[in-house]
Amino acid sequence: MTDPHPFIAGLPKAELHVHHVGSASPRIVAELAARHPDSKVPTDPEALADYFTFTDFAHFIDVYLSVVDLVRTPEDVRLLTFEVARDMARQNIRYAELTVTPFSSTRRGIPEVAFMEAIEDARKAAEAELGVILRWCFDIPGEAGLQAAEETARLAVERRPEGLVSFGLGGPEIGVERPQFKPYFDLAIAEGLHSVPHAGETTGPQTVWDALTVLRAERIGHGTSAVQDPKLLEHLAEHRIALEVCPTSNIATRAVADIELHPIREMVAAGVLVTVNSDDPHMFGTDLNSEYGIAARLLGLDEQGIAELAKNAVEASFMDPAGKRRLAEEIDTYTANWLRGPAR
Ligand SMILES: [Zn+2]
Repeated sequence: MTDPHPFIAGLPKAELHVHHVGSASPRIVAELAARHPDSKVPTDPEALADYFTFTDFAHFIDVYLSVVDLVRTPEDVRLLTFEVARDMARQNIRYAELTVTPFSSTRRGIPEVAFMEAIEDARKAAEAELGVILRWCFDIPGEAGLQAAEETARLAVERRPEGLVSFGLGGPEIGVERPQFKPYFDLAIAEGLHSVPHAGETTGPQTVWDALTVLRAERIGHGTSAVQDPKLLEHLAEHRIALEVCPTSNIATRAVADIELHPIREMVAAGVLVTVNSDDPHMFGTDLNSEYGIAARLLGLDEQGIAELAKNAVEASFMDPAGKRRLAEEIDTYTANWLRGPAR
């Protein structure tokens, strides 16, 4: 097919793996930096573009943390969340499960109730004003250890905001074994939350097995190394456990050496339910539409194939059945109109 990007840009989409702070565009970061002039983050867009050019992964972490440091008050949280939704609306993202790390905010002294009110206020405004449905995944920052896990589980249970649907685990995998988090996932699951840990991004397939058998994962964040284990692929396919694939992120973090070698083809060939996501889009210089473009090229998809990919995300989402049906129909209608012609 010719350039798929105009089709992708207008396609209604759902995103399942995208982090709150990592979604802050230079525009949003500039706005936050202007509110906190003592921070070292530049406020003009040109200097910010340089600031967002990473020399290596350690530099990426530094920049990421400096943006975390700009989110200091409930009003910052609200602004970040609503503006992220505005960027999503521009990409025709209709539904997103946004991964939020409440521990980073409450540890910084933002009162927990005020934090929950800020994200909920932004969620309701995003739905009413932008037509973007937001849901939350509260994730444990793995590098902060069991104390962070306990705090995140407590916040999810005691301060549960209306939009919370799932419980996750992010941060580094090496040296941060998944099974130690079992008690916190058990708590969250008992509360009716879905289990969606990151696994198999920078470690092997055993981490994905641990996520499945110990943390009772219903979807896997990344799962890149699953392709090394045919039995695991078979298990994922059989149980319709989706992988949240984030191609550009995998290159940026060197989980995959070269985009041409990305294992998304093997995942699809094995019958696994694959979804495409942007992870930390602005940190990695991408957005969801670009990620769909990459996936379409790697998988050799035409418009119908791209629409199927978008419907995978709807199926794997934690929307209610009516919401899923509506968005899937919207995707079908858009695709049929596009293929019918000349309006484009
Ligand atoms: Zn992630």
